[in-house]
Amino acid sequence: MSTSSQTKVLVTGAGGFIGHHLVTFLKQKGYWVRGVDIKYPEFSEVDADEFELLDLRRWDNCLQATRGIDEVYGLAADMGGMGFISSHHSQILHNNSLINIHTLEAARINGVKRYFYTSSACVYPEYRQTETNVVPLKEEDAYPAQPQDAYGWEKLVMERLCTHYREDYGLQTRIVRFHNIFGEQGTWEGGREKAPAALCRKIAVAKLTGNHEIEMWGDGEQTRSFCHISDCLEGIYRLMRSDYPFPLNLGSDRMVTINELAHIIARIAGIEITIKHVPGPMGVRGRNSDNTRLREVLGWEPQLSLEEGLARTYAWIEQQVAHKLGISVS
Ligand code: NAD
Repeated sequence: MSTSSQTKVLVTGAGGFIGHHLVTFLKQKGYWVRGVDIKYPEFSEVDADEFELLDLRRWDNCLQATRGIDEVYGLAADMGGMGFISSHHSQILHNNSLINIHTLEAARINGVKRYFYTSSACVYPEYRQTETNVVPLKEEDAYPAQPQDAYGWEKLVMERLCTHYREDYGLQTRIVRFHNIFGEQGTWEGGREKAPAALCRKIAVAKLTGNHEIEMWGDGEQTRSFCHISDCLEGIYRLMRSDYPFPLNLGSDRMVTINELAHIIARIAGIEITIKHVPGPMGVRGRNSDNTRLREVLGWEPQLSLEEGLARTYAWIEQQVAHKLGISVS
């Protein structure tokens, strides 16, 4: 039940991984929440006060989505893991540009006060990410710009648009750059899944079928950092409530190779695996988050260890895989 004193928020992309978790988180904080997406959440019930199925590429739908709203968390995007974003450039640039340009302008027209934009580590220039032992990326490293094709370019341009809306119209925009968020209830099959979920699935299949060889794209020596959804939610909330208007990294600064990631998951699963390296898209050679500014601005940084985050995620994905294979696990 909404009361007039309750802040009304809109979460776009509320049928997706982070958006669905964020709706639950904001409900627990006492907000009135409207969720919007082109699909319902796949793995559990909607917690939002209202959930509307709307295609946010359309201007009229963006006006409808933002009506009567005080604050927007814009998470809707046509996206996926490296396999997806490296092979759908036109679709990604076209769809995400329309979604974000229309949602931001509709928010302004409808008098929204605060707007949270979800950018990505993919805005950082490829020339700073050519080594596995990469220097962690600071916010100002985004320029001179040479982001990841299509997906990263759209994110960078929308960061600029949010900044100009704040300067020109006084709409309080907050901009986060996520570094590889993972966790329970994220996409784990179908082509849009990211490395942690794909590896959890492959290792669960290996465990449940007894064939302990898994395939991995590339040599597995590429490096990344991974942040669990629970820390992501806390960081989103702290940044939205802060007065910091510039892009801010949100991720872990513990860098691992993809081979190491696979072995951590295998240890959690309690099996030994053999990795078969096969050709496939790998993205940049190395990437890590510099969290100096995150600590300064929010007085906080991600808390959960990679092992604990992966243990929670693996347990959930193993259940999904077992269900699909028709195997019961204790
Ligand atoms: P997700 O794919 O699970 O969620 C995105 C949601 O947007 C999906 O449910 C999708 O149906 C919805 N959507 C797509 N097109 C739409 C449209 N036309 N109208 C309405 N809804 C539409 O992705 P996620 O991991 O939850 O990511 C959320 C946001 O964070 C995205 O903007 C993404 O680019 C950004 N991000 C995520 C990560 C990560 O590691 N997960 C990293 C960097 C940035």
